[in-house]
Amino acid sequence: MKIHEYQAREILARYGLPVVAGDVAATPQEARAIAERMGRAVVVKAQVHVGGRGKAGGIRLAHTPEEAEAVAGEILGMELKGIPVRRVLVAEAVEVAREFYLGVVMDRAARRIVVMASAEGGVEIEAVAREKPEAIVRQTADPFLGLREYQARTLAFDLGLSGAQALSFAPIALALYRAYVENDATLAEINPLALTREGQWRALDTKMLLDDSALPRHPEWEALRDREAEEPAELQARLHDLNYVKLEGNIGCMVNGAGLAMATMDTIQLYGGEPANFLDIGGGARAEKVAAALRILLSDPNVRAVLFNIFGGITRCDEVARGIVAALEEVRPQVPMVARLVGTNEEEGRRILAEAHMLTAESMAEAARMAVEVSRRPQ
Ligand code: GDP
Ligand code: MN
Repeated sequence: MKIHEYQAREILARYGLPVVAGDVAATPQEARAIAERMGRAVVVKAQVHVGGRGKAGGIRLAHTPEEAEAVAGEILGMELKGIPVRRVLVAEAVEVAREFYLGVVMDRAARRIVVMASAEGGVEIEAVAREKPEAIVRQTADPFLGLREYQARTLAFDLGLSGAQALSFAPIALALYRAYVENDATLAEINPLALTREGQWRALDTKMLLDDSALPRHPEWEALRDREAEEPAELQARLHDLNYVKLEGNIGCMVNGAGLAMATMDTIQLYGGEPANFLDIGGGARAEKVAAALRILLSDPNVRAVLFNIFGGITRCDEVARGIVAALEEVRPQVPMVARLVGTNEEEGRRILAEAHMLTAESMAEAARMAVEVSRRPQ
């Protein structure tokens, strides 16, 4: 789950990270009032879930409250990478001497949390990783001991810092690590972590991603969610308890079970097609859930065919088939549908689907091949 900069900075401030003074505004007048309260130059920053806002014109300096109002007015009317800006952060402007990067991420291959830092901050870290990988330094945290103080100091020295700056950097790395772990984040990043002329650290841009799997133990996250920024299909999927990820292809996949869904996507690709999504409808596959999933699949204009791949285990295939038929009656899709049902009562299930004019297949390979073929027919 993505949260905005103004939300991440509040979380990180609680861990003692050096965020600058600031507040969020939804109108130019509010932006002006914040600038007046601060009584100094401010930066006005678009709050949208995209990176590279600076380059896209979503971050502007304002020397006076009047200027803050005018600049906020411009930014609030903008779209950044297609997303309308509805809020701005008005934050104290800082005189920057150097820009660093500091981030905490999960290294899935190592199954460890990694703290990364670079003296090439301010720009996207992906670009640094590509063009100058040696400019990124890392420390891997032990899952039981966490990030140790000596590791934080090693990071500082590896960045070329010394003396007071190395000493003051270490607690920042430790605090960011702690914020990451305690908030079930999948990413916590300060970019740039700026050093002022006076040698003070300032977290000028903060970013956090929160782990959706941890939602049940964070009821407070509901208030952080920006519904306007969410993909409508992903919002619907969450409301119906479906695991849905939109992809770029044109064959919609409706599958019960995550592993089977992955295998289905692979099989579609094996036959030269491209899946339009990953979708795990879970066990049961009752009509109401299948209908919700169908509506989500068909809301994607790229979809040219839908492939149902259902394994009837505890839920019998005939029940699943009746659920699918009920859903088809409700949604009335215009694209061809291919179904492969196996498991308990599969013949009965296939008969019900064939009566509903669905193409049915006995094997996964056959189903995938059929779906690829019908997806290519002119419609
Ligand atoms: P991003 O482009 O979305 O990553 O947004 P950032 O908040 O990182 O801002 C982009 C760039 O604007 C930063 O790398 C800084 O160079 C600059 N910037 C942001 N805030 C300040 C500030 O208070 N003072 C100065 N001098 N530069 C700033
Ligand atoms: Mn940034």
